[in-house]
Amino acid sequence: MKNYKQNADFLYLGKALLAWYGIYGRDLPFRKTKDPYKIWICEIIFQQTRIQQGLDHYNKFIERFPDVASLAAAETDEVLLYWKGLGYYSRALNLQKAAVQIMTEFGGVFPDNYNDILSLRGVGPYTAAAVSSICFGMHIPAVDGNFYRVLSRVFADDTDISHSSSFAYFSELALRLMPPGEAGTFNEAVMDLGSEICRPRNPLCDQCPLQKDCRAFQLGRTAEFPVKTKKTAVKELKLTYYFVRFGNEILIRRRAEDHIWKKLYEFPDEVPVNLLPVVMETNTVYHKLSHRNLSIDFVDVFPEKRTEFEALAQAGSYQIVTLEQSLLHSFPKPLENYIAAQVARP
Ligand code: SF4
Repeated sequence: MKNYKQNADFLYLGKALLAWYGIYGRDLPFRKTKDPYKIWICEIIFQQTRIQQGLDHYNKFIERFPDVASLAAAETDEVLLYWKGLGYYSRALNLQKAAVQIMTEFGGVFPDNYNDILSLRGVGPYTAAAVSSICFGMHIPAVDGNFYRVLSRVFADDTDISHSSSFAYFSELALRLMPPGEAGTFNEAVMDLGSEICRPRNPLCDQCPLQKDCRAFQLGRTAEFPVKTKKTAVKELKLTYYFVRFGNEILIRRRAEDHIWKKLYEFPDEVPVNLLPVVMETNTVYHKLSHRNLSIDFVDVFPEKRTEFEALAQAGSYQIVTLEQSLLHSFPKPLENYIAAQVARP
């Protein structure tokens, strides 16, 4: 392991972190349970959503789907509806598939070890490590962006986190800080330190329990860590949607095939030219996803007669719903915003 003596003892850092966490750790509802189902749901929700934004969603989701069986038995549409506002809907679809998998492959009992948890749909090494350490005491670090940031700063380690080998590297380093029997608490402590104190920008070093041992702080180089050379490629994607409206009704359908928004609802993405009535206007909306920049043309179409409207619905097997009914379906965020703007329009 570079820069460090192979046998150096770093447990004192882990212990300092646990002592800090005992006093300053966040008092969050899911910290009061060891139920692997609940911890799994919260880990999936909070991977991409800030705690304050996602807490209400988490509570409502758990209230409606309190266990694996209720999630496995639910209609997919309802699961998506409870996910509304969290984005990245594939996470909700995977949650439900994993719940069905637990029912069929594990007899309805949440698996109790890292490898079985990792075999669940949509579960990666981080989530498997978090659930197995917090709920079953397995001695595994849940390495995520917080670990990369905290460890690379504490050791002023310039290992490039964009390389796939960095996960194993930082996992091994984390193990050398992790006090025996404290894996779950240690993982939660790094999560809290990384999000509250050792923040990506402007870390609050004066409040950090690791400050006196932190090399990056001593060198005045905290902003240089973690090192990440490879930028994630962002693709440009242009989409067109026809917002076909007759009175208070619009056309929608559910997307089934493979697509960034599979299984969500959408507007018509093509309209037979011979059926196209008066096109009122086109509004372009820009929307950023993690790896894509979207440019979406919304073409407002107002058929003059109901027969024209119905012909358009039949041409693409679209459903006719009122604007209010449409809000009970799960749409990608920019489409949801577009409907909301129409509902609000005088
Ligand atoms: S001293 Fe600053 S840079 Fe170092 S671990 Fe603490 S918060 Fe992060």
